[in-house]
Amino acid sequence: MTGNAAIIDGKAFAAGLRARVGKAAAGISEAHGITPGLAVVLVGEDPASQVYVRNKSKAVAEAGMAAFDHRLPDTTSQAELLALVATLNADARVHGILVQLPLPDQINADAVIDAIDPAKDVDGFHVVNTGRLWTGGEALVPCTPQGCILMLEDAVGDLTGKEAVIVGRSNIVGKPMAALLLERHCTVTVAHSRTRDLPGICRRADILVGAVGRPEMIRGDWIKPGAAVIDVGINRIPAPTAEKPGRMRLVGDVAFDEAVAAAGAITPVPGGVGPMTIACLLRNTLIAACRLNGIEVPAV
Ligand code: NDP
Repeated sequence: MTGNAAIIDGKAFAAGLRARVGKAAAGISEAHGITPGLAVVLVGEDPASQVYVRNKSKAVAEAGMAAFDHRLPDTTSQAELLALVATLNADARVHGILVQLPLPDQINADAVIDAIDPAKDVDGFHVVNTGRLWTGGEALVPCTPQGCILMLEDAVGDLTGKEAVIVGRSNIVGKPMAALLLERHCTVTVAHSRTRDLPGICRRADILVGAVGRPEMIRGDWIKPGAAVIDVGINRIPAPTAEKPGRMRLVGDVAFDEAVAAAGAITPVPGGVGPMTIACLLRNTLIAACRLNGIEVPAV
């Protein structure tokens, strides 16, 4: 199919996932008397982080889970934050711990992530979870790539044997995405800023994932006809002045209007990958609560 890509509706998909997670959480609460609980820690006043944290806590409450919010001043020391993490690790009501990044300069983010109990590491950033993901173990998987995989499998079905190209090799998106696609038997190429002939490599892809952070860098003629395109990028660029003077608009890493003519399926920005990230955070909290209590993880 070309010229008429199916638009993957991440907002609707995420709403469905959140509802399924909420139902499963209610079932666990009823059967075992356990309410899955997520602790979200925000240090400082970063406005974007405040919005993310508010949205996460709201979504947790809407899914019938327990939200434990911790707001700390931007003068918080590393020792103070580590002490809070230790308290949350020991708190049986808390099944997931999320420390919102970035952290102020005086705090080493790696040291904080290392201190989180891997069983409660719902961001999936701890090296134990990274190692388990790459070795086929029982990992908590980073939320954004997990969301991409769920949407891809829904749109494409079996991914076995597909040629997958990921543009971007970050620890939170590109690399875990590579592990997840390998696990599903794709042939995976990970491209980055030193890659030669990026357009040519992208043209090989049955599955193309953009996780770069450069507005509309991936052009329509880089896309193999019929490919599934997952656009992780979130970039703010000035809106056309006639449309909204002085306003910004969100675009992805893929030139959507061009890509939609070539792709078989594509995620839009906004409304594609973005909403799935919080939905997968809820899913990870449910999974963590089950594993910590020896309960079989429901399929959601
Ligand atoms: P990073 O900045 O950590 O990584 C960007 C990657 O893109 C790097 O591997 C870099 O290569 C590569 N890159 C940069 N420029 C080029 C280029 N010209 N050609 C090829 N590769 C290039 O970003 P993240 O992975 O954290 O995020 C990527 C995007 O996804 C951002 O827009 C971010 O906002 C968005 N995002 C969205 C989320 C969501 O919920 N939807 C969640 C997380 C991120 P190199 O390694 O060589 O420097």
